[in-house]
Amino acid sequence: MKLTLNKKSFTPQRIFCIGQNYAEHIKEMKSDIPKTPTIFMKPVSSLVSPGEEIRFPKHGQVFHHEVEIVVLIGKDGRAKTAEDAKSFIAGITIGLDLTLRDLQKNLKDKGLPWEISKSFDQSAPIGKFVSYLPLFPFDDIQFTCMVNGQVHQRGNTKDMVFPIERLIIEISRIWKLLPGDLIFTGTPSGVGPLQVGESVKIASPQIGTFEWQIVKP
Ligand code: ZN
Repeated sequence: MKLTLNKKSFTPQRIFCIGQNYAEHIKEMKSDIPKTPTIFMKPVSSLVSPGEEIRFPKHGQVFHHEVEIVVLIGKDGRAKTAEDAKSFIAGITIGLDLTLRDLQKNLKDKGLPWEISKSFDQSAPIGKFVSYLPLFPFDDIQFTCMVNGQVHQRGNTKDMVFPIERLIIEISRIWKLLPGDLIFTGTPSGVGPLQVGESVKIASPQIGTFEWQIVKP
């Protein structure tokens, strides 16, 4: 999958994901607000374009939607300050961090790595990117997730525990950023199950609307 933004195209490099970045979601997961961002990864092979069918995964039962703002990194290097961090952002979209909640709970309880619950094939559907302008109001982007036309999640970036600039600084302390890196920035509350036959639609007035159908494995 190539990522396109205006007329430029990017080869996806790494998918960084942030857990626990909205207080209400942390509450619903019965966790504590972390002091530093919780970072995990998905393989780029898990990306799904808008409109593609999503097969219900065979290896779990509770298949949750998590709508998130997704950032596309446009240059390589490390960010030191918030201003600096902004200069790494090429584009922005919304996506789903699809999660097998039953497996994740089991793995978390045992302190085991959770890739099979979060980093499986088709676990990262994303919309089309809109370009980042220096004046894009990052701290006030609204977004929703609808299942069969009903709103299940409502988020706004102003409620993030760690704002996007801070996430970029923290990730780039560990991994030197590359053009084509993606960051899933965490989900607001209202996560819940998807079933075969349902449609999941994510929308943001500033970004666009994207939809997927859940089909049999
Ligand atoms: Zn997530």
